[in-house]
Amino acid sequence: MSNNPVHTIIKTAPQDNVGIIPYPGGLAKGAFVSGDVILTEDIPMGHKVALQDMPNGTAVIRYGQVIGYTSMDITKGSWLNETNIIMPQPPELENIICKKHDSLPQESLSGYTFQGFRNASGTVGTKNILCISESVQCVAGIANYVTDKIRKELLPRYKNVDGVVAFDHSYGCGVAIDAPAAIIPIRTIKHIAQNPNFGEETMVIGLGCEKLRPERLLRDGEKGTKQSILYLQDESFSGFEEIVKGIMEMAELHLKKLDQRKRETCHASDLVVGMQCGGSDAFSGLTANPVAGFASDLIVRAGGTVMFSEVTEVRDAIHLLVPRAINENVAQALIDEMAWYDAYLAKGQADRSANTTPGNKHGGLSNIVEKALGSIAKSGTSPIADVVSPGEKIKTKGLNFAATPASDFVCGTLQLAAGMNVHVFMTGRGTPYGLSMVPVIKVSSNSKLSQRWHDLIDFDAGPVAFGEKTIEEMGWELFQLILDVASGTKKVATDKLGLYNDLVLFNPGPLT
Ligand code: CA
Repeated sequence: MSNNPVHTIIKTAPQDNVGIIPYPGGLAKGAFVSGDVILTEDIPMGHKVALQDMPNGTAVIRYGQVIGYTSMDITKGSWLNETNIIMPQPPELENIICKKHDSLPQESLSGYTFQGFRNASGTVGTKNILCISESVQCVAGIANYVTDKIRKELLPRYKNVDGVVAFDHSYGCGVAIDAPAAIIPIRTIKHIAQNPNFGEETMVIGLGCEKLRPERLLRDGEKGTKQSILYLQDESFSGFEEIVKGIMEMAELHLKKLDQRKRETCHASDLVVGMQCGGSDAFSGLTANPVAGFASDLIVRAGGTVMFSEVTEVRDAIHLLVPRAINENVAQALIDEMAWYDAYLAKGQADRSANTTPGNKHGGLSNIVEKALGSIAKSGTSPIADVVSPGEKIKTKGLNFAATPASDFVCGTLQLAAGMNVHVFMTGRGTPYGLSMVPVIKVSSNSKLSQRWHDLIDFDAGPVAFGEKTIEEMGWELFQLILDVASGTKKVATDKLGLYNDLVLFNPGPLT
């Protein structure tokens, strides 16, 4: 037996009838795994092995939940994947009971701080950036030209300002601006300008004839002034050079104010952390997401705010989330967001199964049910204090569900609008995702990825897979990293390298 040792596999719940192969090279046919299971074929890393014979139609159990049913007779030791598992129906929303959550009181955490930029309204920034908002895509060419010029000519004089960004988007005109769904892109653009990292300095570039009036992008009650709105069609400008000069002068007024901002000691309760996944694999639900979930609980215990999102990645686990809602209204709001998204997908003749990618499946996730059960681990165990619709700002501290699509860029954009000041992004397959407006901490679900992408990944949750470290230990480490990144004392990989993705609006409304 010494040349055929018993190998480790990972089970997530005692009742699971499948195990996950954790070895980077997978396991070969004939390998022994825990119990008396012998592999009947080669199985790659992250994939599932049947721990018992499963006749056609047997429920496949992972995370203690049914992730599907076998579509043929499976013998013990065989490879289970999307080709031999049939996906179950999603939980029926009508049958979920909304009742008050009787949660155990969580012990509060105090004494954890970071150095942040406090704004007049009380929000706290983790960067100090000039954001140039645009009311319509027509102005993007000039806005980007000027942004480059500001970076080169003005920023060197304002040492306390970290950068300048123009928020380009495709909205603003050629759209049914009064359609009910138009409110989503409009409030997203408006609320992004209010992200705590921009120091409450509003600067909007408009064209002049567009449907989305720049005044709609100001704070509630704020009046448009020469400091806050500039129209390219303003008749006082004669030609490109004069327009550029006008925008530069306006930018300088804001840079002077932003330059006064200084970091000060802020409590961890000022954190607003957005969690999301991208390029998940079977380890995401075992390592990175539970570690993020533990850190999320710590932030909530410290009085801070955490949001998780991605409707299609929670839809199949909604029966586990609704009972965590803090009251009936929040429970109903969760169900309403699921129902809205079901209808949105149905209109496009799709359903939540359109979520999974070839990479997810290659990484061992057979379907969206398995992906969702792993995905919700990043929400930790705290009660769900509130739900916000796409593009809305968070109003309640604690754990929030911010309803968004799962698309990385759309989710990131909506979390920025919700007010996040640190982004935590879990990946198994690997993505160089980064945002210029907030620091993005990238957490790898497996060490194979973090070793290959040593300069792109910020935190490796892989040691949890083999029990080298516990979820608790790594959760504390991630919490500390979040505080260091929020303070600016540690830089994330994408900020060191200057790798930034575009923001992408969620526009479920019609174009004209
Ligand atoms: Ca995502």
